[in-house]
Amino acid sequence: MDHQPAHFLLPSDPRTFGFFVDGKIVEAGARPYFERHSPGHGVAVTRIPKCTKEDLDLAVAAARRAFEDGRWSRIPSVERASVLLRAAQIIRRRAEEIALWETLENGKPISQARAEIDGCVGIFEYAAGAARALHGDAFNNLGDRLFGLVTREPIGVVGLITPWNFPFLILCERVPFILAAGCTIVAKPSEVTSATTLILAEVLAEAGLPAGCYNVVTGSGSTIGQAMTEHMDVDMLSFTGSTSVGRRCVQAATGNFKKLGLELGGKNPQIVFADADLEDAADGVAFGIGFNTGQCCVSGSRLIVERSVARAFEEMVTAKFAKVKVGDPLDPATQVGAITTAAQNETIMTYIAKGRAEGARLVCGGEQLDFGHGHYIAPTLFGDVSADMAIARDEIFGPVLSVMPFDTIEEAIAIANDTVYGLAASVWSKNIDKALTVARRVRAGRFWINTTLAGGPELPLGGFKQSGWGREAGIYGVEEYTQIKSVHIELGKREPWVS
Ligand code: NAD
Repeated sequence: MDHQPAHFLLPSDPRTFGFFVDGKIVEAGARPYFERHSPGHGVAVTRIPKCTKEDLDLAVAAARRAFEDGRWSRIPSVERASVLLRAAQIIRRRAEEIALWETLENGKPISQARAEIDGCVGIFEYAAGAARALHGDAFNNLGDRLFGLVTREPIGVVGLITPWNFPFLILCERVPFILAAGCTIVAKPSEVTSATTLILAEVLAEAGLPAGCYNVVTGSGSTIGQAMTEHMDVDMLSFTGSTSVGRRCVQAATGNFKKLGLELGGKNPQIVFADADLEDAADGVAFGIGFNTGQCCVSGSRLIVERSVARAFEEMVTAKFAKVKVGDPLDPATQVGAITTAAQNETIMTYIAKGRAEGARLVCGGEQLDFGHGHYIAPTLFGDVSADMAIARDEIFGPVLSVMPFDTIEEAIAIANDTVYGLAASVWSKNIDKALTVARRVRAGRFWINTTLAGGPELPLGGFKQSGWGREAGIYGVEEYTQIKSVHIELGKREPWVS
């Protein structure tokens, strides 16, 4: 694929998908389609069915049957693990195809999509081990007559709602863990990036996952998403998306008190001390906001930098931005691709205009780049940003970095914590006392020291404050999808209550 010209990889006709219920692909039939155009090229690439609420009900019923009859939830974990390992092999085999559809629908660079799919193989492999490592606890300290067990049971039918920024990666940070726990799934991908969620259905079926354990119902958030959050037969909802929709999920979940896992927005600080390796820090800061065009929940969008080096550091980041290769997502050399939707492009440009209007100093970027098609925005840096400005407070979800200087470590921590979010944070310093003090005091679920956006399936993901509830990945990510049961066992003859 590296040697083919980018236009060669564009489909001549959009690929038409069905949705997936009870082990079978269901063709759209009379249902209308979403037609998705590649954000980088403007050509139609996929057609995705707009499912109905009745389709959702059928999918939930299939997931319920599959859960209750024990075809997955009650088999030995070694058998679950072998399905997950086979799925990892199939993803590896189909990696080029999955990466291509990911790029065509999302606009991310093909090299990045490939790396993400490769990462997903590793997540499935890790989750296979986690399935077998999952266990409960025993209490042998209750006296001679009482023995206690704590067991973990799969929570049941899990509804899974995902966003468009990492359609396959975010899916794979959840699906193998949910399956490892023994649950069954009804997934609803973002309406603009559904292809790879549907391809995963083929992968899991080939890997031997029993019918009904992974279902995909495609459609809009306001119909299928909302209906899933309200559904009385969904035991848990794992939602990844914006904080505003997350709030609606909390309200909608009250009907049956379904458990919620919420992975929401962020306004993540990058704290740079004067004693950092500033060359490394500038590279990391540019990567932290440029990667995936800043459309990451964990993008480092606030640069909190020690005042004595602030201007020099701005120049270093600006120089890095100038060298970033923005362009056609299908070009293997591209580092930053297209903005995923026209609406998101509009949101980012509106924030850039607000930053200017509120008096921030535009250091670089701030404009759209014209490649003849698609939406592209130059990496943008604003200096002299004050805490009350919209570009300091709101999640922009684009390549826009706001610089705020500090004088003391206390001030750096206070600025970092001055947000409703608490998803991720980074600190750059060669002084271990400073770096660890900041890591311990900043309220965020993921923390990086002298790096950013690093990770793997071993370490959990999730947020403090309005960035969400619960954790994904790691052994925590399997436990999240279990219920705990206490079992009390009395030994010997009972002391009578009534004699
Ligand atoms: P979004 O909230 O608009 O949509 C996310 C998903 O929710 C989509 O599948 C959408 O169809 C669905 N949805 C929309 N309205 C709904 C409703 N009323 N009920 C139920 N579902 C509904 O988010 P987005 O624009 O797709 O993604 C960007 C947002 O996601 C950003 O805020 C970003 O920070 C967040 N995000 C968070 C994480 C994380 O792990 N914390 C990861 C990626 C993205």
